[in-house]
Amino acid sequence: MPTSILIIEDEPAIADTLIYTLKSEGYLPQHCTLGSQGLEALRSGQYALAILDIGLPDMSGFDVCREARTFTDIPIIFLTARAGEIDHIVGLELGADDYVTKPFSPREVVARVRTRLRRTAAAPTSPTAASAPASETLFEVDAESGRIRFHGTLLDLTRYEYLLLKTLLERPGRIYSRDELMDRVWSDALDTSDRTVDTHIKTLRYKLKVINEDKDRIITHRGMGYSIDTGKPS
Ligand code: CA
Repeated sequence: MPTSILIIEDEPAIADTLIYTLKSEGYLPQHCTLGSQGLEALRSGQYALAILDIGLPDMSGFDVCREARTFTDIPIIFLTARAGEIDHIVGLELGADDYVTKPFSPREVVARVRTRLRRTAAAPTSPTAASAPASETLFEVDAESGRIRFHGTLLDLTRYEYLLLKTLLERPGRIYSRDELMDRVWSDALDTSDRTVDTHIKTLRYKLKVINEDKDRIITHRGMGYSIDTGKPS
């Protein structure tokens, strides 16, 4: 049976593109343009995932998400038009699972959808944090499998996020400049910009925060760079 996905988005061009791409990937997308309609549809319980625009005509996507989280825990992926909104998503405890910044490629959105659904299917019914082994180690790097655990929970990282975090973890407390991180992490990348490091730091922070928001583990040193705090003296 095809997986139903709800798209809550008021811009027809964006919704049409998403519908087309999701259908071509074998999903069953349905679409509404208002937040209130979206909430009503979600209450039916038939959707495996929701893609949610932030700027909706009747209410903000933030409010839709907050309300939806009172009755469902399906993955929610935000569509954001402005970088400032990302801070908002990260800052508020909305329970969003991911976000994509407009303009985006439909392929990218589908890739996110697939990842989220796979994670949902694989996740145990109890919270992962509770089943994690009691460990003194805040971060566990498994270089062989290219994965990192935080508070015992496996992080879902892109390749560059992984390399960035792994580099910072080599020497906790040490400040790495942007240039150094560019050299170390993006040495093979063809397409980078001044914002590359900062953007990845931002998504890393978000992913750590989703697991544990006691403390920001990535420290910004103005004009100097970034370091990581693992709770131990370096
Ligand atoms: Ca909109």
